[in-house]
Amino acid sequence: MISIIIPIYNEEENIDNLYARLTVSAPTWNDDYEIVLVDDGSKDNSLAMMTAYAKKDSRVRVIKLSRNFGHQPAISAGIQEAKGDAIVIMDGDLQDPPEELHRFLDKWREGYDVVYAVRTKRKEGFFKKAAYKTFYRILAWISDIEIPLDSGDFCVMDRKVVNTIVNEMPEQVRFVRGLRAYAGFKQIGVTYERAERAAGEAKFTFKKLVELALDGLFGFSNFPLRLATYLGFGIAIPSFLVGIFSIFHRLIGFRVFGPPPEETPGTATLAVGMYFLGGVILIILGILGEYIGRIYIEVKRRPFFVIDEVIEKK
Ligand code: UDP
Ligand code: MG
Repeated sequence: MISIIIPIYNEEENIDNLYARLTVSAPTWNDDYEIVLVDDGSKDNSLAMMTAYAKKDSRVRVIKLSRNFGHQPAISAGIQEAKGDAIVIMDGDLQDPPEELHRFLDKWREGYDVVYAVRTKRKEGFFKKAAYKTFYRILAWISDIEIPLDSGDFCVMDRKVVNTIVNEMPEQVRFVRGLRAYAGFKQIGVTYERAERAAGEAKFTFKKLVELALDGLFGFSNFPLRLATYLGFGIAIPSFLVGIFSIFHRLIGFRVFGPPPEETPGTATLAVGMYFLGGVILIILGILGEYIGRIYIEVKRRPFFVIDEVIEKK
């Protein structure tokens, strides 16, 4: 059986279309299936609409979270509750077309444990596209594991990968595509054209996107911590040379950039050094803060989602 996991947050304009397109494509999947709709605290009519589908179609299950926990926790809830031998993660706004899914499932049947979708085209604004591209490249460059470029959460995962993620990765800050890459097994990317959002507004605010990006970067790399060391060396070596220069300058008193040192109190040098180093120190403190904040979240061990109710046809 295949489980299709879809996080839903205020998607009332898309749910009918989503259900229709899923059920039309379903025969191409050549398998029994369940649709796991995770309601991430929707405030519109989404829950009522999903409940209606769950009551009439035994293949639809609704996992109602107790409030809005966010996209990654919602996916995590779906992954935990799914029963399939393979699971599929896709968005509820039809940006990941259900009609393409059979190509991914074919790869899974060929023996791949993770079939992740790689976007060839993104129909989004220039700024957003550039930001995504940069993010994935920085992440790939600094992360300790190989996270494929331009692949989001849209994927098929075999049961053994799901079990690894659910049972053996207890971290609270969930960056699912990173956990998936970390799990290993036999992985392959399949390209697809990412569609535009079918209807409604994007539920990801700019702030949420930045948070997701930071979770990815800090969650899968200790490189930023090492930055302090690198910068320290980078600054220390030129500083040493400047120090030597200053000593000679003072002793010999030759003329460079204006009057000899006897006549200048040297405030410019001090000011530049102070502001520059002050900036560097603040950046490094901020980076330390990012890790400490994450350590704090991890040690509190609060559940990263709370299930209120599971709605299904009895
Ligand atoms: N979503 C969610 N919780 C949130 C934000 C989004 O479950 O707090 C869902 C949303 O309903 C959609 C998917 O996550 O099904 C992707 O959201 P969106 O399309 O807004 O993200 P984008 O495509 O802009 O990255
Ligand atoms: Mg979307």
